Amino acid sequence: MADRLWVLGSAGWMPAAGRETSCLLVELGDELVMLDAGTGVANLALASEVLERHDRLGIVLSHYHLDHVVGLMYLKRFVAEMRVDVYGPGIPVYPRSTAAYVADLLQDALYSAGSEGFAREVRYHDYAGRDFCVGNIPIAVRAQHHSAPSFELRLADAVTYATDTAFRASDWHTAAPTKVLLHECWQVEDKDPRHTSAEALAAGLPTNRFERTLLVHQNPEWDQTARATVERIAQRHGMELARDGMVLDL
Ligand SMILES: [Zn+2]
Ligand SMILES: [Zn+2]
Repeated sequence: MADRLWVLGSAGWMPAAGRETSCLLVELGDELVMLDAGTGVANLALASEVLERHDRLGIVLSHYHLDHVVGLMYLKRFVAEMRVDVYGPGIPVYPRSTAAYVADLLQDALYSAGSEGFAREVRYHDYAGRDFCVGNIPIAVRAQHHSAPSFELRLADAVTYATDTAFRASDWHTAAPTKVLLHECWQVEDKDPRHTSAEALAAGLPTNRFERTLLVHQNPEWDQTARATVERIAQRHGMELARDGMVLDL
């Protein structure tokens, strides 16, 4: 079985211009892992054959902002027969557990299947800012710089996922290499201190540690000029803009 990554949602905040919000699917050997569960969960329709090969799914959340969790509500269509384990930062990084936050989001009045009824079996876990495993895949966790605690997630030597965060070049001096890096890019130049700019990545990201660097959490407010500028900066520095529906061999 080939190891693969599906880009299911490459936008931040809201869907726009054919991009759903944050969601990736990674198949590594026997394990199937989803990174964040934004509206991109709807694009699981593009990867239905991979779901048939697995009876469990691990979902790892970088944080709880809605553009990263609202798609939990769509899962029932795709994973009703599976066992699902949801891992979020939880206690003590946040005052409450992952189970409590998702139970609020999927409460009866808002969603009839609730937080435990969208799959055959659903379990919630707090990774608490520490490294952990999904099945036999080691997940390395690193605190980022955002308006709420958010975490970079690294799956073995295959995938690094860094959203939502401001970029600090010093964080990357010792970053472990992986085949693919997915890093957020929210703006052309540094404006919003909770997020990363294309210029900051161009100046400080060691892209040579990664075979491919894809930019995700793209800003739905970009006009054509902003998108073209980000694209130009990315190309010059060995990066590319992710698109929903991309499939990468790992
Ligand atoms: Zn976000
Ligand atoms: Zn966020």
